[in-house]
Amino acid sequence: MTMQRRYRRGDTGPAVAEIRSKLVLLGLLPAGAATIAGTGDAAGHDGSPDAVFDHSVDLAVRHFQQQRAMTVDGVVGPETYRHLDEARWRLGDRMLSYSIGHPTVGDDVATLQQRLLDMGFDCGRVDGILGPATERALREFQRNYGLGADGTCGPATFRALDRLARTVVGGQPHAMRESELLHRSGPSLAGKTVVLDPGHGGTDRGVVAHGLAESEVVWDLARRLEGRLSALGVQAYLTRGLDVDGIGEEERAAFANATDADLVISLHADRNDSPRAAGVSSYYYGSGTDRYGRRSPTGEHFASLVQRELVARTGMVDGRTHGKAWTLLRRTRMPAVRIELGYLTNAGDAARLATSEFRDHAAESIVVALQRLYLPPDEDVPTGMLRLPVFT
Ligand SMILES: [Zn+2]
Repeated sequence: MTMQRRYRRGDTGPAVAEIRSKLVLLGLLPAGAATIAGTGDAAGHDGSPDAVFDHSVDLAVRHFQQQRAMTVDGVVGPETYRHLDEARWRLGDRMLSYSIGHPTVGDDVATLQQRLLDMGFDCGRVDGILGPATERALREFQRNYGLGADGTCGPATFRALDRLARTVVGGQPHAMRESELLHRSGPSLAGKTVVLDPGHGGTDRGVVAHGLAESEVVWDLARRLEGRLSALGVQAYLTRGLDVDGIGEEERAAFANATDADLVISLHADRNDSPRAAGVSSYYYGSGTDRYGRRSPTGEHFASLVQRELVARTGMVDGRTHGKAWTLLRRTRMPAVRIELGYLTNAGDAARLATSEFRDHAAESIVVALQRLYLPPDEDVPTGMLRLPVFT
């Protein structure tokens, strides 16, 4: 079932029944606790078409979203539903194999990836998506352990993985690989490829407040960044044109993967019901609470550098860095960072974001963070000290 609309507290019907049963399966909701709207007795069960999205479901959904580093709003839309669906798979529940164009996605794939990494088979990062790198690592594992190297994870492979899991102590091979790649790539920015992703676009203007539209602000900032990066010898690609409409997060991620970029920088501005909410925040792929500890260490590092420079150079409120499993961050094969440059719903932030002076400072902060990312650790200099060539 694909979920088109969004379900929230107060909704009823078969889709809610399905959401309930998934939460029960995950142990987040007690079985048989559903109530029927209007009847007041406990005759309902979780398969009931009259199932209610009640307070307990709302809490369970929020709990789940928090676990998975998603936006915690208690609403089941397409993304939360997809995660609910992926979460039910345990390694061994189904055969796993790579299929081009339709990769298998689920927690069983994430477990497989974690086991392969623990044993030193490089499958990239743990993202729960069975792609070509995971298949290669799986075949390699099968060859090493005298199994048929067919790239399919079936009963014999499950048994071998299980046996070995008890003898291998998990490390962070992926984290080590990422930083090794980073250092091998050298301290110079020249020759690097960066994908700039101005959020929204076309009729989707994002947040519109105080006379500003998010899509236009981030487009302008992306162009300023593009100019500075080109001057430093960085190949910069934009995920969209000025007025291009309807490009989803999946497509943006696919574009970045196709360019084989070193890094993705996604630009957004935030909104909040409270006009007092203000400040910049940076997001990377990851979550501290997830049981597999999925994260991109380079993304996390870059997010902290960007955040530090932005706060120091613009004086904006520090909204800190956060790990998130948002589609663009997760589906990109390279480190990706999403920057929320301030709240357009806040009068002070909006006034700053409206000026080209602020946008220049923001662009400069991001470029300096990028230089720091590729700087060897012993050559790091205090925040605010790096100087860029002057642009006119
Ligand atoms: Zn946005």
